[in-house]
Amino acid sequence: MGTIPKSSVGCVVVGGGPAGMVLGLLLARSGVEVAVLEKYPDFLRDFRGDTVHASTLGLLDELGLGDRFAALPQQREQRLTMQFDDGVVTEDFSRLPGRHQHIALVPQWDFLNLLADTAAASPNFHLAQDAEVNDLITVDGQVRGVRYLDKNTGDTHELTAPLVVAADGRHSTVRRLAGLQPRGSATPHDCLYIRIPRAAGDPDHTVLRFSATGGLIMINRGDYWQAALLIGKGTADFARADNAAWVRRTISRLAPYTADRMTALDPTTIASLEIRIDRLDQWWIPGALLIGDAAHAMSPIAGVGINLAIQDAVATARILLPALRRGHVTTKDLARVQRRRHWPTLLTQLAQERAQEHFVAASPTDDTHPPVPLRLPQPLRTLRHWSGFPHLFGRLVAFGLRPEHLTGPLKPLTHA
Ligand SMILES: Cc1cc2nc3c(=O)[nH]c(=O)nc-3n(C[C@H](O)[C@H](O)[C@H](O)COP(=O)(O)OP(=O)(O)OC[C@H]3O[C@@H](n4cnc5c(N)ncnc54)[C@H](O)[C@@H]3O)c2cc1C
Repeated sequence: MGTIPKSSVGCVVVGGGPAGMVLGLLLARSGVEVAVLEKYPDFLRDFRGDTVHASTLGLLDELGLGDRFAALPQQREQRLTMQFDDGVVTEDFSRLPGRHQHIALVPQWDFLNLLADTAAASPNFHLAQDAEVNDLITVDGQVRGVRYLDKNTGDTHELTAPLVVAADGRHSTVRRLAGLQPRGSATPHDCLYIRIPRAAGDPDHTVLRFSATGGLIMINRGDYWQAALLIGKGTADFARADNAAWVRRTISRLAPYTADRMTALDPTTIASLEIRIDRLDQWWIPGALLIGDAAHAMSPIAGVGINLAIQDAVATARILLPALRRGHVTTKDLARVQRRRHWPTLLTQLAQERAQEHFVAASPTDDTHPPVPLRLPQPLRTLRHWSGFPHLFGRLVAFGLRPEHLTGPLKPLTHA
């Protein structure tokens, strides 16, 4: 489980998140022998996004996985309404071009398991879980592979390849080993993740409530809400203090129908997550490329991070496939991937940076002050009166700025 039965492959992918799994699948089905190394034993992660947008749904169709994905347990939303203290803003997906006029909210473990199952059908695909990369193999200044720990046996193994792709997330080990330092920008929030049992009479749809008394996102997972409560940066300990009194009070204010369940909330089950936005100036060193959050950590705003990471993976496979088939990847090839994905990432992050100021959640540390009502951001206050705005907004979120497709050497199985 934690070991690859090989000492050399065509490409090593570090990290089995959305970016790493899609890249592994694409390379394997295109004839490149690929090993994905994932440090955890499974994909069961509660604390990551569930939002699969039309850009990714279209790619899944192109991969021939549309029907299998549609069969996963999921919540589909044609519209998302953000409720502020003085009005609402709607993202409307109902007029999106293509086959998918919704956003799918799917537990990430189901999605990753689907990718893993599909990829496993190819003899070129190897996945090791409980396999943690802790060193790079470097020869004459060029990365030639990795060393990883099989956490089941405690043994360290070497795996060489013409290319190492780091898709190991925002705390990337490969990035640190490569000596690359991301440029960060200030983020005013962190986030608490809380499970709240659902009850008859609760709304069915996703809840997005932004108020001076807090910011709350709740995803309907059948018998429970997966809730994310925005809190001021670095205030998680305050929020959980006093038997999580602030959390109970804030959620009861924002979603009053859950108030009856707040007394039973177990503070030890409240997880906290740091929100960051950062990016690398250079996404590569000779022999290694960084993609997804390892190259650019995304804020949860608009739920685009998974989708952007997957776009990176598609661009990486399409651009590097000829070089990987030859078994020799140059720095010029790696720079092409960055050129392709850099500006959509940068513009998305700039939009997230502007937006985050308007989702200011009350902080547990200033809860004693009377809250000032959180008003709709000025541009949205003006634009929402235009009837086409919800559709334009929905389209921007659903497809992003440069959606990628299985073109060129990446042949689609079916067309969206
Ligand atoms: C609070 C929060 C909520 C979010 N909500 C959303 C949302 O709703 N929708 C959305 O689209 N995005 C959301 N995001 C952003 C999203 O989670 C990321 O942008 C996305 O997960 C990036 O995917 P990735 O594959 O690049 O990295 P990750 O998903 O972080 O995957 C990296 C993988 O690498 C593995 N790994 C790490 N180190 C090693 C190592 N040394 N060896 C082997 N494996 C390793 C990790 O275990 C992990 O499986 C959210 C982010 C935060 C912080």
